[in-house]
Amino acid sequence: MNEINSTQINELRQIIDGAQNIIITCHRSPDGDALGSSLALSRYLQSQGKDVNIIIPDAYPDFLMWLPGTQEITRFDKHADKAELLLKISDLIFCLDFNTLNRVGENMESALSASKAKKVLIDHHLNPDIDAALTISLPQMSSTSEIVFELIEALGGYESMDKHTATCIYCGMMTDTGAFSYNSNTPKTYSNIARLLEKGINKDKIYRNVYWVFSQNRMRLWGHVLQNFQVSDDGHASYFTISRSDMKKYSFIKGDAEGLVNMPLQIRGMKLSISLREDTEKPNLVWVSLRSVDNFPCNKMAEKYFNGGGHLNASGGRLFCSLAEAEEAVKRAIKEFKY
Ligand code: 5GP
Ligand code: MN
Repeated sequence: MNEINSTQINELRQIIDGAQNIIITCHRSPDGDALGSSLALSRYLQSQGKDVNIIIPDAYPDFLMWLPGTQEITRFDKHADKAELLLKISDLIFCLDFNTLNRVGENMESALSASKAKKVLIDHHLNPDIDAALTISLPQMSSTSEIVFELIEALGGYESMDKHTATCIYCGMMTDTGAFSYNSNTPKTYSNIARLLEKGINKDKIYRNVYWVFSQNRMRLWGHVLQNFQVSDDGHASYFTISRSDMKKYSFIKGDAEGLVNMPLQIRGMKLSISLREDTEKPNLVWVSLRSVDNFPCNKMAEKYFNGGGHLNASGGRLFCSLAEAEEAVKRAIKEFKY
């Protein structure tokens, strides 16, 4: 079930053979895995003589800008006309690292639905629900990037894989596993990493490029949050807020809060950490991120209380209220939620 099977590979090969204009898309607020898998697949398909365009819903964090190929990406929120045209003339669309079309945001969702192109879904989230000609959904995999690596390998593309492609894949695997601190207990992951190292990637540099690039403002925002987070009486759950005024004070830019929600889990006995972040523009929209350890199902909590979902230990959602009201909702959820 959690291995790519040969039928899927054959179908994928046929679908790729039959296409020329290919689009690769990923979810809103692209992370290292969304971007890494998109860039790697794009390089592979280009090496096969295909015309490939990557269309992403919106901005990605600055600390991913160094990834090889980012300058060729089209942002839907900035260049909707161009993106819509590209989608219209494409004959194949890859959906990477998301399981439902609404994960790309409303406008891009309509454009994707309107396109007549065949879709191929490659993802590791639970419950894939996209009408695709081929669905490769492997929830046990560390990352979509690792799936893409195994697919390229199965299609015979390992020998000619270049260092840049290997770098993008490694970056996606690393970021989706918190630098191999979760979702990364599978031996195969490490033989895959060995195969990537064979391609000359510099994994230590990739690590520093992603994690050791804090701005002063970002570091001070983390300091602020780490001073002010709240902990439940039993010490098992915590939450913090990032308001628009915090963002102003620390000149918040996209990506500054990335990873922050993991921090309270470093406290002994902490099982759940929740972050509440006001949307930078829309009033009454609060983004919720949840992280947990062991078998605490934060996806169930996200579904029940925060209009969201996700993985067992990493989920997200949204609340349509003020930050103060969201705080009350979180306190209630922490108190009520039984698992
Ligand atoms: P983040 O906290 O980084 O926004 O999200 C953590 C994880 O939860 C990601 O893997 C993301 O895919 C998933 N996630 C975030 N929001 C949603 C949502 O609304 N629905 C579902 N099913 N998953 C989500
Ligand atoms: Mn992912």
